[in-house]
Amino acid sequence: MSNTTSTLLIAGAGASGMLAAISARRAARELSVVDERLRIVLLERNPKPGNKIAISGGGHCNLTHDADVKSLLEKGFLKKSEQRFLRHAIHTFSNADLLVLFGRYGLKTEVRADGRVFPVSGRAGEVLDLLRRMVEESTVTLVTGARVERVECGSSGFILHAGERRFEADAVILATGGASWGSAGTTGDGNRLAASVGHSIAPVLPALAPNYFTVPPKPELVGVTLRNILLVASADGASDSRRGDVLISHRGISGPACLSLSRSVAGFLASGKKVTISADLFPGHDEGKLSAFILEEAARHGTRQVRTFLQRCPLAPERLDAPSDSSAAETIPNAFADEIMRQAGINREVTMSSLTKAQRLGLVSALKRLTLGAVRKVPLDRAEVSAGGVSLGEIDPKTMQSKIHPKLYCCGELLDYAGEVGGFNLQAAFSTGWVAGSHAARMLFENC
Ligand SMILES: Cc1cc2nc3c(=O)[nH]c(=O)nc-3n(C[C@H](O)[C@H](O)[C@H](O)COP(=O)(O)OP(=O)(O)OC[C@H]3O[C@@H](n4cnc5c(N)ncnc54)[C@H](O)[C@@H]3O)c2cc1C
Repeated sequence: MSNTTSTLLIAGAGASGMLAAISARRAARELSVVDERLRIVLLERNPKPGNKIAISGGGHCNLTHDADVKSLLEKGFLKKSEQRFLRHAIHTFSNADLLVLFGRYGLKTEVRADGRVFPVSGRAGEVLDLLRRMVEESTVTLVTGARVERVECGSSGFILHAGERRFEADAVILATGGASWGSAGTTGDGNRLAASVGHSIAPVLPALAPNYFTVPPKPELVGVTLRNILLVASADGASDSRRGDVLISHRGISGPACLSLSRSVAGFLASGKKVTISADLFPGHDEGKLSAFILEEAARHGTRQVRTFLQRCPLAPERLDAPSDSSAAETIPNAFADEIMRQAGINREVTMSSLTKAQRLGLVSALKRLTLGAVRKVPLDRAEVSAGGVSLGEIDPKTMQSKIHPKLYCCGELLDYAGEVGGFNLQAAFSTGWVAGSHAARMLFENC
């Protein structure tokens, strides 16, 4: 083995960049390469590494998801092309591998009922601290306040420019994250850098974001949650939907179903479509069944006002044969009763027995397609992740190596994928970073 020395530069000290540094050192040590022969330099534009880890999961850090790899991919990444791309990386460095590695540094984790995994301490800072320790033990030079602005690619290596500073490297890993939540340091720099060396960039779209409406929700609805409903985005003939909780906010909607649907909504808006959001309060029951249910209720409680019926009406029930005054787990929130009546064209005094057929059908229609608002914006600066980025077809999924420049690697959210809420995004960043780092070190030293 020769005694050549190589430099690996990693741009971005987030989840993927730190794991890339750690795995590169580990791979080099496995090849018996002494630390002096592989200089690993981690360039970070912020004063500190790991800003996004610190704010993840509301400061609690939902670091991964508890499932076998196949289910993790299916649950976490709704696009088959993204599942295919990530499969190898997540198998190579799985959620179990992550917990074993972090466990060695003393991290104790707990699995919530929905599969999300958090540190027992509930502190994202604990995860960040242990990553910093691991980076330190990996003999990595961390340079903060270094925003990479330009990459020069030559036949023998790279030069990265950060302000007045120049960093030369034999191999480069771009781990600069996505383009959302820019206040954390992620403003899509990696897309510009990758594009400048010939990579195609899929258009950036916000994902896991709230929706802002053209007309803000009525004050009495703000703060109300519609549980387990079907949220539907309709856009000039196209549509998409998600089942889950939706929170009415001052500007529009938020909550899990909204976050999950936001990538589609943003896509519709980007293609010039007008998007209307509605809620199906009885998913799983067609209009005929709902109409029959209302008739039965009218026969049972004819003198009851429609408004009272709505206030006692089950929300998104499994079965429709339960009487409306049963103690259903969830009922339509009181605040929504007037809105449903307004959209159904029924005034407050109408009783169940006096409902005309047209009014009943209007009520059914409002319950199945309750308009929540027209979307004005899906804000990128409030999106937990961004979709789009470096085209997956130009990156080898087994190594994260660029198919354009063999000594260039891309990993993490910079790549054109976006996961659901639940720990999937951090896991994908950790896994792709791990694969990029270990392959880069092997590529530099395996044949020496
Ligand atoms: C509010 C919020 C909460 C979240 N909660 C969760 C959660 O609980 N679970 C989960 O799985 N995911 C969560 N995510 C998503 C998750 O944080 C990201 O998907 C993940 O951090 C991506 O990792 P990454 O390494 O690709 O990018 P990042 O972690 O964003 O790291 C990229 C790093 O590169 C640096 N950088 C950028 N440009 C340059 C440049 N030009 N030069 C040098 N450095 C640069 C950035 O400052 C940053 O430190 C959350 C995101 C947000 C915004």
